[in-house]
Amino acid sequence: MREISHFIDGQRVPGRSGRYADVFDPNSGQVQARVALASGGELDAAIASAARAQPAWAAMNPQRRARVMFNFKHLLEKHMDELAHLLSSEHGKVIADAKGDIQRGLEVIEFVCGIPHLLKGDYTQGAGPGIDVYSMRQPLGVVAGITPFNFPAMIPLWMLGPAVAAGNAFILKPSERDPSVPVRLAELLMEAGLPPGIVNVVQGDRQAVEGILDHPTIRAVSFVGSSDIAQAVYNRGSAAGKRMQCMGGAKNHGIVLPDADLDQAVADIIGAAYGSAGERCMALPVVVPVGERTALALREKLVTAIGGLRVGVSTDEQAHYGPVVTAQHKARIERYIALGVEEGAELVVDGRGLSLQGHEEGYFLGPTLFDHVKADMQAYRDEIFGPVLQIVRADSFAEALSLPTRHAYGNGVAIFTANGDAAREFADQVEIGMVGINVPIPVPVAYHSFGGWKRSGFGDLNQYGMDGVRFFTRTKTVTQRWPRRQGAVVDQSFVIPTMR
Ligand code: NAD
Repeated sequence: MREISHFIDGQRVPGRSGRYADVFDPNSGQVQARVALASGGELDAAIASAARAQPAWAAMNPQRRARVMFNFKHLLEKHMDELAHLLSSEHGKVIADAKGDIQRGLEVIEFVCGIPHLLKGDYTQGAGPGIDVYSMRQPLGVVAGITPFNFPAMIPLWMLGPAVAAGNAFILKPSERDPSVPVRLAELLMEAGLPPGIVNVVQGDRQAVEGILDHPTIRAVSFVGSSDIAQAVYNRGSAAGKRMQCMGGAKNHGIVLPDADLDQAVADIIGAAYGSAGERCMALPVVVPVGERTALALREKLVTAIGGLRVGVSTDEQAHYGPVVTAQHKARIERYIALGVEEGAELVVDGRGLSLQGHEEGYFLGPTLFDHVKADMQAYRDEIFGPVLQIVRADSFAEALSLPTRHAYGNGVAIFTANGDAAREFADQVEIGMVGINVPIPVPVAYHSFGGWKRSGFGDLNQYGMDGVRFFTRTKTVTQRWPRRQGAVVDQSFVIPTMR
């Protein structure tokens, strides 16, 4: 059995704990490898390596750190095909989508190639008589990232890009379901010139996560995953005095106003609902047509578009999407489809029971569509994370606005309309972190930042962009005055200094 190892101190290190998890091929349903699950020993070795390497890395001038990032960007481009195939073979997303996963992470690396500029502080000359004030951003030391299965390249790169470029050492604990790409990323970083120990990959499960949260050397933890775990991780890490940012799950709505270009909206919604088998935190699993006429027309067009979808193995270039990640996850999605029926929603297209010839054991699910879904149904309230689209009909703009606003999750939302004023009001009022106007998946570009509200995000700073740099650095502010004459005491005060 092939073993997927840790990556510590610049090299692959086999597991020593005796604990492993199976890694599946979602196309065939077969176990293809096993991944080592870390015990405290492996985590300690990674943290010790990081702590040894970090001071020299932080002392290196930022332009030289940026050059490593430039090299890394070129290596990611050079190895794009290899990485995409590796990613797809464990995750199940189609190759073109796997390339998108890598590309969105690569763009964060491009952003942090500007780290000398991003780290520049502020300066005030003459804040008082002979007094200047300046601030600087300093790295935290050893920091960590804990990532979900659904973007095994992009999310590690969101985190490690700003963390490492800013001068920290980074411990990555990737998802145990698709752990190979993170190890390749670490190897490519070494090839790019990163010193050993600055990025370590510790494979593992809850035990490794708790080890990270409790370890006194780790100063900050960035987490992305499901909401209950995000909240528990946030609480435990904060209680241990760490800086925490924990992104959670989502249930994103697409609002369709009567004046929307319906054909374009349907094309957008279908791609965003079923792409990557719905396993995206920025997927669009709920669509809200406003008014009866919009609902009828939208439903008809959605059904036609669904009829044209092709589900296939992840290497099928014609497939719109591939299998879901595990048999367990497939069964969970099927339970939610059954729940939707039990709760009284209308199952318009049933994706269960899809079998692909030659891949009968693969974790495939056809596209599923529900209509007449109501806000009090559990199948609506919960994140399903599969190829299931729910139509929730609204009578008015106000009702459509209130649905995502009142929902427990607050990651993304989209509105489809030709009315700029309505879109503007919607963007202003809706209680959601990322809004798309005629844009179905509004994941911000690398020089803005990514973050949801409510149960989609715990902590205050977003991922990547300037927020990423802020999260992985701390501000030091220096107030300075230089004596005019050596040894002469010119003033003394027992009250708080002010700049009168
Ligand atoms: P998950 O919560 O199961 O796992 C995330 C990470 O937590 C993994 O590294 C996993 O090993 C670890 N983990 C699992 N159980 C744990 C426990 N009990 N204690 C401590 N750590 C634990 O999430 P997933 O299934 O890998 O990913 C899908 C979820 O992630 C979805 O809810 C999705 O919406 C969310 N997600 C959110 C964003 C975002 O930015 N908001 C982005 C991508 C995915």
